[in-house]
Amino acid sequence: MKRFLTVENLTVVGILLGIAGGILVPDVMLSLKFIGDIFLNLLKMIVIPLIFVSIFMSIASLSSINDLKNMGSKAILYYFMTTALAVFTGIVITNIIQFDVSSIQKTDQIINVNSFTWEAFLNSLIPSNIFKSFAEGKAIHVILFSILFAVAVVGLMKNKKDPVVGFFDGSNDALLKIAKWIISLSPVGVFSLIGYVVADKGIGVILSLWQYVVVVIIGILIHAVFNLGLIGYLVGKFNPLDYFKKVREAILVAFSTCSSSATLPVSLEVATEKAKVDKKVAGFVLPLGATVNMDGTALYEAVAAIFIASVFGIELSLFQQIIIFVTATLAAIGAASIPSAGLVTMTLVFSAVGLPLEGIAIIIAVDRFLDMFRTATNVWGDLIGAKIVSRFVNGKDK
Ligand code: ASP
Repeated sequence: MKRFLTVENLTVVGILLGIAGGILVPDVMLSLKFIGDIFLNLLKMIVIPLIFVSIFMSIASLSSINDLKNMGSKAILYYFMTTALAVFTGIVITNIIQFDVSSIQKTDQIINVNSFTWEAFLNSLIPSNIFKSFAEGKAIHVILFSILFAVAVVGLMKNKKDPVVGFFDGSNDALLKIAKWIISLSPVGVFSLIGYVVADKGIGVILSLWQYVVVVIIGILIHAVFNLGLIGYLVGKFNPLDYFKKVREAILVAFSTCSSSATLPVSLEVATEKAKVDKKVAGFVLPLGATVNMDGTALYEAVAAIFIASVFGIELSLFQQIIIFVTATLAAIGAASIPSAGLVTMTLVFSAVGLPLEGIAIIIAVDRFLDMFRTATNVWGDLIGAKIVSRFVNGKDK
């Protein structure tokens, strides 16, 4: 019995009860919306501190500025390019396989976005008051500041650096603990959010989810097999299939735990012991990658935003798709490597293009299922990255 009472199983129960409640007692579910709102607020409460501290820690744990320059620049280039490629793949697929959500009740919501200029865009990346950016939840500002701060700390004398890193190391663990507590409230939060959506919009919304699931999985498979496989073959000069066979244990652990960080010890072990990737490279690229490199999450965030836009009858302009491209990349970088973290940073993508946050309640129903696929892809992307960086740092694996 105790084995059954896990958060994941209870979340499934919450979803089913919410759907039943939405159909049978819609008025009750409408009045219980505040519970779901509290759950959403808790998710929003944790996201910014979590982004700041997790990015800081992955950079600050480097031993010297030289390490940062040498491996860091190569790893970060790889992370950015593959994450952006993943989002691009997701957006292209959703444009090819158009979602048919005609059975779903539409809203006449219109989104106003100011016209785009590069000057304004570049200017908007730079915070003028970092506390204001924290308070307003501007993720991009927080990420930039976190990187700057971490790089500065790496260059400090040991006696000054250690207390700062120690403080944030502890803070990181504490924040992850809070995130876990919040995620453990999912069964109740999900019950209220799903119940509200079904009561408000009808069961068609939930039934239409199969299209979303199929598109995310197709996108993830294309990215994991073709994009990453080809990059490994062409840039890393290795056979991706052979490499997969050596590291597959980590992929399976990622698939079943839905956590890149929980998988990290296994990734390190298989990369260094079985696939003979250089230890120093693996020791840097895999932990940093577990925090910032999430191709599966990035792809899923983009597809989810486009899906929810069509559910709410919102036409996305090219400019809004570009915003989705940028924010999904950043949201994936900022997502913690624990189950359902992608769902937390999803609020950033939705807010950036003005999508209703209630949309998250619609996709939460299949989130755990998709988390398995995206986490496996996240870890596979980290492992490919470690192999490629080791080729460029050492000339060959040791
Ligand atoms: N569970 C994922 C990971 O740990 C993050 C996510 O929720 O997308 O890699």
